[in-house]
Amino acid sequence: MNNHALSQRDLAVLWHPCSQMKDHETLPLIPIRRGQGVWLEDFDGNRYLDAISSWWVNIFGHANPTINAAIKVQLETLEHVILAGFTHEAAISLAEKLTAITPAGLNRCFYADNGSSAIEVALKMSFHYWLNTGLPQKTKFITLENSYHGETLGALAVGNVSLYKQTYQPLLMDVITVPGPDCYFREPGESWQAYSERRFALMEQALAMHAGQVCAVIIEPLVQCAGSMRMYDAVYLKLLRAACDRYQVHLIADEIAVGFGRTGSLFACDQAGITPDFMCLSKGLTGGYLPLSAVLTTDRVYQAFYDDYAKLTAFLHSHSYTGNALACRAALATLGIFENQPVLENNRQLATLMQQATAHFADHPHVAEVRQTGMILAIELVKNKADKEPFPWQERRGLKAYQHGLKQGVLLRPLGNVIYFMPPYVINPEEIQLMVNAAWSAIAEATQ
Ligand SMILES: *Cc1c(COP(=O)(O)O)cnc(C)c1O
Repeated sequence: MNNHALSQRDLAVLWHPCSQMKDHETLPLIPIRRGQGVWLEDFDGNRYLDAISSWWVNIFGHANPTINAAIKVQLETLEHVILAGFTHEAAISLAEKLTAITPAGLNRCFYADNGSSAIEVALKMSFHYWLNTGLPQKTKFITLENSYHGETLGALAVGNVSLYKQTYQPLLMDVITVPGPDCYFREPGESWQAYSERRFALMEQALAMHAGQVCAVIIEPLVQCAGSMRMYDAVYLKLLRAACDRYQVHLIADEIAVGFGRTGSLFACDQAGITPDFMCLSKGLTGGYLPLSAVLTTDRVYQAFYDDYAKLTAFLHSHSYTGNALACRAALATLGIFENQPVLENNRQLATLMQQATAHFADHPHVAEVRQTGMILAIELVKNKADKEPFPWQERRGLKAYQHGLKQGVLLRPLGNVIYFMPPYVINPEEIQLMVNAAWSAIAEATQ
């Protein structure tokens, strides 16, 4: 078996996610034989440093011995069981752990099996809460410009990345979209905090105007990842929490990408010291092993559904694989690593190394900004540095960077013209340097 033979078989039968399949007439597919730590190895023996944690899911490396061992034990005992009427130890322990480590007041855990499903759960629960408490006129959601919450129709509707959304617009529910706190657009010399604070006025206006019809505001705390890794200050979250309380509107925090240490704290909401009404978790939850998601919420929300069956107030939502035992066990092993090792401290050092290694990038004639929040570092490429005029998307500069990165043994997967690092936390200083060097020459190549 080699790359070519497997690619041929693949292209005859598979349809890949988020891909124009015709690209593969010229762009080779890469069949991976095995993974180890930050490294992926293909069937021709080439190695690639996974600088994007395999779509942001892998936090403690591929083939992690601790997680492997936990799954093996679970596998010999119970692979899965229906979670309605039945339960199992891994689902219980994980819910206990998640309610303990998420912000105070999040005491209930509802499982689903991927990020988008968790978003659907949170949207439905929020709407249903207001219905059960006598406010059926609350049917709308407020979302931020440039936000991303997944690809299923409800999640897509509350997202705002037009590349993914535009085509399906006729199928999507109406939402109220508010200009966001994205600090890329701050004035020269303006701080992130000042800009994010100033931009909150627009959210305040939207709430003042629509609160009576609004179930919830949904946001990605601190970093809009799929929206080109755009970042903002925690002050926005503080102001938003207070305003949601004032206007009787829920706050849904989508921590699917930023949760589990990615932004420097265990959860991004921790940096603002806030408790959302719903927190959606997935991606890093299982260390990148198995699909699982969780929606954490409050006793208050839970109690609004708790009544005699005939009142028909129950949350009758399910997925076949809700609370899968193998996935829950992988998640417990992942949380165990956070308990047993100084992960956040180590990440602070790694984040500093990433910052130092990229210090010169800002001087590049086609780099408009280098921004960082914890273990996410993004480099925005532009045609014209002076006015931030972007490269036309048709030129696919990011794709060139991707191809050049692969040639140097680094998996970068730029978002449009934004190259970013979001590596597993087990990356070491030499690997950081390798990753940064590859990006630097990929940028030179892509901006020619
Ligand atoms: C990836 C992601 C989702 C969707 O999760 P899937 O598991 O891909 O459905 C939702 N929100 C955010 C912020 C994400 O990054």
